[in-house]
Amino acid sequence: MEPYACPSCRNKMRFHILDQQPVSVKLNPQTGDVVGYIDEQDLMAQPYKGEKRLVQCAVCGLNGGELLFVKAAQRSEFQGM
Ligand SMILES: [Zn+2]
Repeated sequence: MEPYACPSCRNKMRFHILDQQPVSVKLNPQTGDVVGYIDEQDLMAQPYKGEKRLVQCAVCGLNGGELLFVKAAQRSEFQGM
């Protein structure tokens, strides 16, 4: 892992980490039941492009993608915070 910093409150120690594990499904449009899973050859579907890891600051509650917190840590090192 890389160092995190909260860009809002500058917390560097306490975080909630949410690893995303998307499940790509096909639903029955009438019932909502799962009828199958999207495979890689499915021309009607794009692959998941969202965040792989979400982070919430456990001090102030700010939410964001992991990169937001990694970049804030890099900036704070640069600025000697
Ligand atoms: Zn914070």
